Amino acid sequence: MKQRQNPKQPWLLTPGPINTSEMVKQAMLQDWGSWDGDFRAMTKAMCEQLVSYVDDNGEFVCVPVQGSGTFAVEATLGTLIPQQGKALVLINGAYGQRMTKILDYMGRDYVILDKGDYEPPRGEEVAAMLQQDKDISHVLLVHCETSSGILNPVAEIADVVEQQGRRLIIDSMSAFGAIDIRSSDFRFDAIVSSANKCFEGVPGFGFALLRKEALQQSATNAHSLSMDLYDQWCYLEKTGQWRFTPPTHTVAAFTQALKEHQAEGGVVGRFARYSRNQKRLVTGMRQLGFQTLLADEWLSPIIVTFFSPGHENFSFEQFYDRLKARNYIIYPGKLTQAESFRLGCIGQLFDEQIDGLLGAMAAVLDEMQIPDGCPNH
Ligand SMILES: *Cc1c(COP(=O)(O)O)cnc(C)c1O
Repeated sequence: MKQRQNPKQPWLLTPGPINTSEMVKQAMLQDWGSWDGDFRAMTKAMCEQLVSYVDDNGEFVCVPVQGSGTFAVEATLGTLIPQQGKALVLINGAYGQRMTKILDYMGRDYVILDKGDYEPPRGEEVAAMLQQDKDISHVLLVHCETSSGILNPVAEIADVVEQQGRRLIIDSMSAFGAIDIRSSDFRFDAIVSSANKCFEGVPGFGFALLRKEALQQSATNAHSLSMDLYDQWCYLEKTGQWRFTPPTHTVAAFTQALKEHQAEGGVVGRFARYSRNQKRLVTGMRQLGFQTLLADEWLSPIIVTFFSPGHENFSFEQFYDRLKARNYIIYPGKLTQAESFRLGCIGQLFDEQIDGLLGAMAAVLDEMQIPDGCPNH
């Protein structure tokens, strides 16, 4: 599976865009006519394969949309939530917050359950809110909240939402492809993700896996032409084409990325490698004295938040620049309270890169004359 990389390429310990394989990059060397049958066939195969990852009963369709992941979230919310609908947004980080911003722009009514920086929303509290407010039509949940790296309890919440007869929309941007989520395990209407996270493609489009029956009822909901997934779906069904210029090279790269995903053993294989990366990373970082924000039970194999060292010599900027000089790109933290940084486990990263990063960490602490990564000094 492992391929030789350009030695000058930086290693991205980030939640996306991530390191892609040589073959994925090479797949972009060809140009495609968007109208041409070959490209239409490529889109169709890609959509069918993505559906097969979630759907056991022929109930879902895949609708891709140009842009980054947020475009796909916005398109999904705007398409599925009727103008008279009301959402309950479960928030424990930036991506939950962002969904409320999207709803503000679109003028959709919503309430929130905000758990702060990293506490998970629990089934019981969601059930209480749904019982109390019968107007709530949709519940919006982030699968892996990338701001802290927490893996939210999707099954627990999906069960409650189904019992209460409401509809669930899951932002699984940073988890889909590495964490199993199937329509036979629990009920949801939509899963949203993008090309450049766990499937290890390059950025350029997002996609939604939508319950067909829900999409069929959504013909007049959308607030925006380019964000109308119902219209995009109808056009794809009718012509095999995206409505407007598709990111052709990105789709070609993604097609190659899907092949490699399959060759690695699909979701199970990818989960295994990312979990291995995460464990190796967390063990090594703890040996250097660093502490994780979350208890092991909530850690995802996607990205991990570490507290910054408490030593007076620490500055994130210097820490970042020195790691970058060694070819490792890390990610800043997003906590409102404590100083932190994040390390991603996804993309073309293997033992060699994790060990390399840990070595660089130790060397950088040494250079900065910080005895260890301990947050309380
Ligand atoms: C990456 C991500 C998004 C989308 O971000 P873009 O920058 O628009 O691609 C949305 N939700 C979550 C949970 C993410 O991790």
